[in-house]
Amino acid sequence: MTTDEDRVAAGWDRLNSLLVHIGRPDPRDERFRSTGTQVNTPVTRGSTVLFPDLDTMRKVGTERYGHTAIYGAMGTPVQHDLERLIAAIEKGRDTQIVSSGLAACTTALLTWTKAGDHCLIPDSCYGPTRRFADSMLRRFNVETTYYDPLIRETDLRALMRPNTQVIFAESPGSHTFEIQDIPMLARVAHANGARLLLDNTWGFGIFAPFDHGVDVSIQALTKYPGGHSDTVLGAITVASESEWHRLRDAAIQLGQLAGPDDCWLALRGLRTMGVRLARQARTALKIAKWLTSRSEVARVLHPALPDDPGHKLWKRDFSGAGPLFSVVLQPSCTRKAMETMIDSFTRFGIGASWGGFESLVLPTTGGIVRSLPGGLSESPAFRLSIGLDDPADLIADLEHGLSRL
Ligand SMILES: *Cc1c(COP(=O)(O)O)cnc(C)c1O
Repeated sequence: MTTDEDRVAAGWDRLNSLLVHIGRPDPRDERFRSTGTQVNTPVTRGSTVLFPDLDTMRKVGTERYGHTAIYGAMGTPVQHDLERLIAAIEKGRDTQIVSSGLAACTTALLTWTKAGDHCLIPDSCYGPTRRFADSMLRRFNVETTYYDPLIRETDLRALMRPNTQVIFAESPGSHTFEIQDIPMLARVAHANGARLLLDNTWGFGIFAPFDHGVDVSIQALTKYPGGHSDTVLGAITVASESEWHRLRDAAIQLGQLAGPDDCWLALRGLRTMGVRLARQARTALKIAKWLTSRSEVARVLHPALPDDPGHKLWKRDFSGAGPLFSVVLQPSCTRKAMETMIDSFTRFGIGASWGGFESLVLPTTGGIVRSLPGGLSESPAFRLSIGLDDPADLIADLEHGLSRL
């Protein structure tokens, strides 16, 4: 029998063979025939690449859409191996690594918009993406309309204008965990000649963007692939040759790349991403279920819970779940009491980011900027990122805090 816990871990389990094999040196490669090779791609530090003659340099220089480089700013071997592995996980054609998850969002928006365009962004999006749209994009005369992440098809069609070039999506929403109907968004975008860009950070590895009509998939590799809270990195993946050329040209023009040490850390983190996240997803669901039984808790926002509003779409489109979800407390609880509780936790670190091996907590209500009504009510709420800890220890810590509210 498949339990809910099996279901949140299934997609992670299926990734493991791919994670072990792709993006490593091949011992059968000509270069290694007489010398053998290390298991892992070595870190290569360098700006200048030297060539035996000008002809060779010119030849490599014209191949900028492949995984070669005439200069360090076009990437190093370890960056290119990381790109190969990300593209394989996403089932895309190719990937561009950039300096952070936020840079992945902004580079993608700059690549697929121009002055005079209109862009639709979900009201539930990652805060810094909103700030970029409201300041830089606006300055370049790209107008943004924020839409309800749970919008219906007819209402979305009504928001489309002749100059709408991009529908941006993020599923589930940062903090509020609304699951978006991605195939519907793709249908509306494509009927209008627009592209669908998805921030797939939560769904990375368990949501196949290009099977659901997405044109451009964005990740913060800082989260699951890094996995150890020791690196900041982003990726943009596309499915077609023409989109790849457009993306690669933009990344080179913007000087987007990442250092070899960060790429190496992400590549190393990816080898164990499947086992880490399967375990973290199981623990997160167990804790989410336990929280729903507590009288201090009004709602738990986790799409794998059967009565979550996004549950049906999650079951239809995702092969697993992430370790990140939110908890809304009863309206009778004051914000001050919640903050005292958060300060008292011993197993949860107080800090930004998520997806690492350690568990984290952050209050969420005050930090959410919205243009539309909805989102979280005024009740105090907090977000948990569940790590590799023993679930019993995390539950004991939460129980201790909740019972003193
Ligand atoms: C963290 C995050 C980002 C930004 O990633 P950084 O690497 O921290 O810049 C973007 N989108 C989502 C959904 C995130 O959670």
